[in-house]
Amino acid sequence: MKQLLILFFFSCISISAIAQENDNKVILITMDGLRWQEMFGGADSLLINNEEAAGNVDYLKSVFWRDSKKERREVLFPFVWNTVAETGIIMGNRWKGSKVNLTNQRVFSYPGYNEILTGYADDENIDSNDKINNKNKTILEVVNNQSEYNGRVLAFGSWDVFPYIINEERSGIPVNAGYMHARTDQPTANELLINKIQDETPKRWSTVRYDTFTHNYALEAIKRVHPKLVYISYGETDDFAHDEDYEHYLFSARNTDNLIKELWQFTQSDPFYKGKTTFIITTDHGRGWGFDEDSHWRGHGIDYEGANATWIIAFGNGVASRGEIQSNSQVYTNQIAKTITQILDVEYDGNGKAGAPLYLK
Ligand SMILES: [Zn+2]
Repeated sequence: MKQLLILFFFSCISISAIAQENDNKVILITMDGLRWQEMFGGADSLLINNEEAAGNVDYLKSVFWRDSKKERREVLFPFVWNTVAETGIIMGNRWKGSKVNLTNQRVFSYPGYNEILTGYADDENIDSNDKINNKNKTILEVVNNQSEYNGRVLAFGSWDVFPYIINEERSGIPVNAGYMHARTDQPTANELLINKIQDETPKRWSTVRYDTFTHNYALEAIKRVHPKLVYISYGETDDFAHDEDYEHYLFSARNTDNLIKELWQFTQSDPFYKGKTTFIITTDHGRGWGFDEDSHWRGHGIDYEGANATWIIAFGNGVASRGEIQSNSQVYTNQIAKTITQILDVEYDGNGKAGAPLYLK
């Protein structure tokens, strides 16, 4: 019996030695301040019928208005609602009882991204959007510190605070954010062209670039470096909302859906990623639902009613095709970090503070 056990023990070691290499890849995506109301209901009747928010109401309605929420969300997010809904999991439709919330009590961007990327809120230390290097180690840093992943973690953001949130200085992860050029000594022809077009395009916001630049830098670098963990943060939606520009908020949301589709299609065409890549998409916070001072859709923060309501989407490798969650349930943004480290088979618990992994089976 003893000998049998020993034999069993050794055969397990050899099996685990063969299976040791984790081939999984993760692409984490955020859309800054994109409300659950649009994700699950498409264009909001309250906002699209308001001239101040929508500008040309008739024009905007011709593009985004349909009779039912189901049709409106399909028009706004065709990839999410036609493809992802068939193959993945979509959480956060509060009209159907599925709730996703932040655990931080700040409800603005740096605290939100810290929560997503570390798995816990840090309200004590993170109380502004200032360019201060994050004391907390994000999972990007933790994963990058593993020999198997070293140099294979990349981050891209439209907002220029990301090098500080991810603490590029300490983590060594190159973060292409704000109006940076491609981060390589040997840019491809495409990267040189993106640099040129970014320089020649008017800058609507001083700290946030248009998402097309962030996206195309990410896509080019993914092709060039083949990272195993990628983080892409799209930023336009939040800034158009702060500008009270519902027209561009909607067009930006629809465009981002298409950018995500492009990333997915690329991963399905590249043998390095095909069948091995999990996509997780979320937002750093919600926003107000109407026009009153404490609930205005342009804003967010702890004083804005409902702005801590968010949503999470997962699809690809290892994710069951449960579709839109339509039962009473509650998950939190702080569960994303450990979900990712679990997929990548990297030990992480955020000093015991990280939320439990999401159940994606
Ligand atoms: Zn904001």
